[in-house]
Amino acid sequence: MTDLLLRDARIWGSDALTDLLIRDGAVAAVGTDLAADGVPVEGLGGKLLLPGFVDAHAHVDKTMWGGPWVPHDAGPGLQGKIRNGVAARPALGLPSADYITALLRQMVVSGTTHARSHVDVDTAMGLAAVEAVKEAVERLEGRITVDLVAFPQAGLLTAPGTADLMDQALAAGVGLVGGIDPAGLENAPVEHLDVVFGLAGKYGAGVDIHLHDGGPLGVWQYDLIIERALALGMHGRVTISHGYALGEVPADVQARVIARLAEAGVSLATVAPASAPPLPLAALRAAGVPVGAGNDGVRDLWSPYGNGDMLERALFLAQRSRFVRDEEIEIALEAATLGGARVTGRRAGFAVGDPGDFVAVEARTPAEAVCVRPVRSLVVKAGRVVAREGRLV
Ligand SMILES: [Zn+2]
Repeated sequence: MTDLLLRDARIWGSDALTDLLIRDGAVAAVGTDLAADGVPVEGLGGKLLLPGFVDAHAHVDKTMWGGPWVPHDAGPGLQGKIRNGVAARPALGLPSADYITALLRQMVVSGTTHARSHVDVDTAMGLAAVEAVKEAVERLEGRITVDLVAFPQAGLLTAPGTADLMDQALAAGVGLVGGIDPAGLENAPVEHLDVVFGLAGKYGAGVDIHLHDGGPLGVWQYDLIIERALALGMHGRVTISHGYALGEVPADVQARVIARLAEAGVSLATVAPASAPPLPLAALRAAGVPVGAGNDGVRDLWSPYGNGDMLERALFLAQRSRFVRDEEIEIALEAATLGGARVTGRRAGFAVGDPGDFVAVEARTPAEAVCVRPVRSLVVKAGRVVAREGRLV
């Protein structure tokens, strides 16, 4: 936690040059010509200032960033990727705290100040991935904060022993319980959710469930998850990741589900894949449902793509949503910033008390920042300069 004065910023939503004083890691004053009072000053000269980017759906444990280029050869479908991931991991030295560290550094210089990473927990490697991610986060020394999700990538009920390992991960401080396609992958939706929400209740943990299942089957599971969130009073603590089904069903069904998400306080995380219809971002926003964006896996056995850049992810989200107007493109940028903060239960913005997490870029408007993706001139985490002109500080 540090003190810092950001001088002459153009903060998102205002054309006036504004100063932000950060004290003890949080915004303490907003105005013009603020006195420095011995606090270090960063003159921004009218650069655009955005809230620190939040990567609300990452899998940093799987990455090979900074390692060899490994040609993709997984079999088709979810099962093919799961099998390939488990089989190919050991020979490649995965999970690797070094690769994870390299990716986290890349995320920081790209402006990401907070992330939620799913971390595989399975019977082949136990909690090795959790340990590797924790070690890498420590090496970053506070430049980025990362929430972990104990994630049963290889199955929960279909892989006996996994639930016990997830219990151990939560006992060791992992803050969220993951789940995956309770119906499509596990073929035991109620039992799957019993285990996931049971663990959440035992540890007071949040829940974040991968839901790739599409169409009516996917929507049915939206309803199962929403029912649990309502019954257990978990408003603001349950996220559905991907949730492709919502982008696939008729408008009346979509409207009904969106209203229920809002009522239950269930948030969504999307990675804007090319292979699925986009979530209805504008309707979700109008209903007040928090939507975060994430990079998903970056250069791993699941996909050779990705670079950890949330501004690029906002571009993908805008393009997938066929957004062209500035105010539409800003909805995509919101998912990469304020939306991700809401999903992860954090404050964000430019008000007194908001965290001192910011990114400054050379752009005239937020929409231009998304389209051009300029080098991040300054990245500030909790009032500390952590990257400058694309280099880690
Ligand atoms: Zn994922």
